[in-house]
Formats: sequence, C-alpha cells, structure tokens
Amino acid sequence: MILLSRRTMLKNAALPFTGTFALPTLAAAVQDVSTPYQRPKLKITDVRTAQVRVHGLQTHVRIYTDQGLYGQGESTDAAVGTASLVSQFRRFLVGQDPLNVDALWERIRVSGIFAGAQGGQYITALSGLEIALWDLAGKALGLPVYQLLGGKFRDRVRIYCDSDMDDPLSPESARKLSWIKDQGFTAMKIDLDDATDPNRFDRVNWTANNAEVDRMVSWVKHVRESIPKEMELACDMHGRYDAGTAKRVAKELEPFRLLWLEEVVPPENIDAMADIRHSTATPIATGENLYMRWGYRELLQKNAVDIIQPDIQKTGGLSEGRKIANLAQTYYVPVAPHCVVSPIGMMSSAHVCASVPNFLVCEWHWINFPDLWKGWVKEGEIIQKGYVTLTDKSGLGIDMNEEVARKAQVPGTTWFESNKA
Ligand code: MG
Repeated sequence: MILLSRRTMLKNAALPFTGTFALPTLAAAVQDVSTPYQRPKLKITDVRTAQVRVHGLQTHVRIYTDQGLYGQGESTDAAVGTASLVSQFRRFLVGQDPLNVDALWERIRVSGIFAGAQGGQYITALSGLEIALWDLAGKALGLPVYQLLGGKFRDRVRIYCDSDMDDPLSPESARKLSWIKDQGFTAMKIDLDDATDPNRFDRVNWTANNAEVDRMVSWVKHVRESIPKEMELACDMHGRYDAGTAKRVAKELEPFRLLWLEEVVPPENIDAMADIRHSTATPIATGENLYMRWGYRELLQKNAVDIIQPDIQKTGGLSEGRKIANLAQTYYVPVAPHCVVSPIGMMSSAHVCASVPNFLVCEWHWINFPDLWKGWVKEGEIIQKGYVTLTDKSGLGIDMNEEVARKAQVPGTTWFESNKA
C-alpha cells in the first residue's frame, strides 16, 4: 500500500488533470449523468385543492405543470379557509419553475406580511403548497424528497401512536391499548385534559383541583402499568391549564418518567413555559401551534422546552420544518413533529424526519379511522411495526387513492377542480 503524506496529496491535487480526467472532459461527464441538465423544463400551469375532514379539516393541494407532472401536498389544523388562500396564491405560481421551492415560498410569504403571513391559515395554506412543490421537484429530478433535503440520516422513521382515548380506564381504551401493543409501537400518547371531568367547579377556568390532579395521575398510572416497560408514554394537556396547575401536574408525574408532557400551558408566554420547565424533571414539549423559524426562536433561546413539536403541514412545510429542526439542534433540543394528517402528509413529514440528525419520534393520529388510513394511498399501510420506511421512489413516493379519499370529502366543496378565476 502506498501511503501519501498530507503534503504530497495537496501537491498532487494542485496539478492540472490530464487525459480522461481533463477538466472539460470531467465537466461534460458530470453534465451527461446529472439530472438537473436533463430534466424537463417545467412551468406551473395550475393549482387545485380538495378538502377532507378526518382528524379535523385537511386541505390537499395539487400543483400541475405543462409537462404532465403534478405534485401533491397537504395542510391541516388551521386549514379552514386555506383552499381560498391557495387559490389566491395561484397568481404567484403559474408560469414559474416549480423547482425554485424556497424562492416561491418566500415570495408568497413576504407578499402577505400585511395579510397575516406571520402564522395561522396563511402559513398553513403555504405549507400544503410547499409540500406539493417538493413532491413535484422530486418527480422532475427522479429523486426522493429526502435526497433533495440533503439526504437521509436514517432509513426508517419512528412513529408514536396517539391513542385518542376519552377515558383511559374504560373497556374501549383497554381494547385500544391492546391493539397499540400488538402493532409494535415503541411510544404512545394520552390526553390528560378532560372537559367533562365531574370534579371541575368551573366550565371556563382550568385551574385543576386535587380531584382532577388525582384523576390525571390515575390515568397515567393505569396506562403505564398496561403497556410494556420499554414503551415510552407521552401526555398532552392541550394548553388549557394555568401555570400553577402545570407545575403541580409535571411534579406529580415525575415518578412515571414520561417521554414528555405536552402544552402544559398555552404557547404564547415563553417565560411562563420556561419557568414550568425549570421547575420539574418531567420533559416539557410544545410547538404544534407555533409557526416558522421565528415562532421557535425565543422558545429555544430561553431554554423553555426539552422537545419541540413543529407541525410540518402547518408551520411552513418541509424546508421550514428542516430549518426549525436545525435551529433546535444548536440548542441540543430534539424534534418530535406533531402530525394529524393522511399518509400523504405523514410521508412528507417522514422525509423531513429522515433528513435531520435530532429527530426523536413522529406522531400518528388516525387510530379512529383505520379504513381511511389503510386505503388513502395506493401503497396501502405505510406504518410497519411502528416505523415508516423511506423508499427510493421519486418525490414523496406515495399516491392518493381517490376512491377512498373522496369518502372524507367535505360536502359542498370541489375536488381538484380548476379555479382560474
Ligand atoms: Mg398536542
């Protein structure tokens, strides 16, 4: 074996290439095999939507081109009115090259600064549209989206099951817990806030009394004892409670070593969130109601949470989700995306989860809609033993089965019809 010193290697590297490695030859060879130089010159021709209601309202977005290719995306949660917004965004897209994903996103965002582009429906609409652009870019280049996001850190993405239980002590919940175990999930979540708790004295204020806190502890204890020791358990409080309650509950749940306690208070007051986080050993998580990098900046700067939960179909899309995760990495904070969408949206999240180092686990929230879930895409069930596996297919690598998806269409709405008005 010939060992080259660092000095020799540098000296050789400085020499001009000769023969088959001459620079013009090399450049031509790269161009021959490089898809960007051979890809069809695409122009966006139309943008269409379809609205469905499964776990809340979702708006599916399709972006069409003059070469027959189309991309699909999905937005959710703040989705009311987004179909109309997507239709308004059409004027920024038609005639444009869809591969300039970030530039198109930024153009639409900046144009809406005086129209609510700081969050809410505006950014949710933009999220579904951005995901469709990435699907289109991947299809045009013949590459999976994760490859365009910088490549993958992992081949499969860990999923946790949101159990969507009303009362974890009920017989129906026992059946759900058994099903979740059988599916092979390594983590699950329950909700602790209960608007129907008979111990509540006030229908508006959510300061929890002793009986309510005891009820929460009994729920966690029961579920913890019903699932395998190695399965992780997260709990959600949906941002309903006050700071005092949040501290009490987080403290009382410390012995259960939760994966996290979610939205202990509403997300707006970051100082309050930081105060709660520093009062307990229970990991505190939040993020599903925050938008774009700016929504996470102060939260991370103030070390207010242990885990962030951006909703990729709401916070700005795939590129934004990745940027938020990268920002969190600088604070050594892991990312556990909120995800309540169809297999199309979940697969789009999976591409982001694969492309960042600090991914923890991603949500699945369609336990109450098993037939819609399994039939929504032509690929069938995408979660195997609690994981989504990324494939080598181009774009998102997944196609809607319209016959099934249309069963959830919102009555009175159109289905991917052109709206060129
Ligand atoms: Mg939540």
